[in-house]
Amino acid sequence: MQIIEKIAEMQRWSETQRCQGRRIAFVPTMGFLHEGHLSLVRYARDRGDRVVVSVFVNPTQFSPQEDFAAYPRDLDRDRKLLEKEGVAILFFPAVQEMYPQGFQTCVEVSHLSQFLCGAHRQGHFQGVTTIVTKLFNAVRPHVAIFGEKDYQQLQVIRRLARDLDFDIEIAGHPIIREADGLAMSSRNAYLSADERKAALCLSRSLNRAASMVQEGETGGLQITEAVRVEVAREPLARLEYVKLCDTINLTEVDQVRDRALLALAVRIGKTRLIDNVILTR
Ligand code: AMP
Repeated sequence: MQIIEKIAEMQRWSETQRCQGRRIAFVPTMGFLHEGHLSLVRYARDRGDRVVVSVFVNPTQFSPQEDFAAYPRDLDRDRKLLEKEGVAILFFPAVQEMYPQGFQTCVEVSHLSQFLCGAHRQGHFQGVTTIVTKLFNAVRPHVAIFGEKDYQQLQVIRRLARDLDFDIEIAGHPIIREADGLAMSSRNAYLSADERKAALCLSRSLNRAASMVQEGETGGLQITEAVRVEVAREPLARLEYVKLCDTINLTEVDQVRDRALLALAVRIGKTRLIDNVILTR
């Protein structure tokens, strides 16, 4: 595995691969890799001839009061994990490389970015869509893999790719969970032992909602209320939002008709966690 730090070198490598008729599959990450990321990497291996993984903690998607500085980083560990997975390139640009002096261009997906996490994290999706655009231009992949863990991000990027005519297939991948149900996340590393237990209220409340739907409940109010109650039982947890939404345009729905997205964000102490489930009747 080769580590590339410069955009121009990344582009040259991709051009060579493309000229040789190879299909490039790309997994963008912020590093501190876990099984969720590695599962995306394995899927990428099935979808392309060469896999590129980027590790870049993108400052522009964090607001000033968020955890950019504290975000966990361990390049050496990430490098070893990716090497074992047969990744061709680890793209690891510095902040200065992606945002040099004078940088002033942003990419925004106006509507989809306003719901769910977008309503609570000012400027977050603008940061995401700007960096993903730049990463796409550096890596020039044929296919890019994103996790459904960040369901809104996946939909926003699908829209971005369509609207700006990126000739890149956007592929989703299901959420990977710990054995007890907690969705894997680099931010789980922030949790104390008590908080780690408390964090189970996210998946527990989503499972509760899924069972309700299986038992015939389809009302949005009833479903979201059950989630509120379940989260409220956990003293260390504070619900930021829970929403039942259309799976594509993310607008709120009042009923599970065919299928709907149930998404939530919860603060466990200082750590903000998200999770979601697609409810089907
Ligand atoms: P991150 O490093 O958190 O920015 O995540 C990089 C990519 O991995 C994103 O597409 C995430 O949606 C995806 N991802 C993170 N955690 C999981 C998980 N538990 N299951 C599936 N995909 C995940």
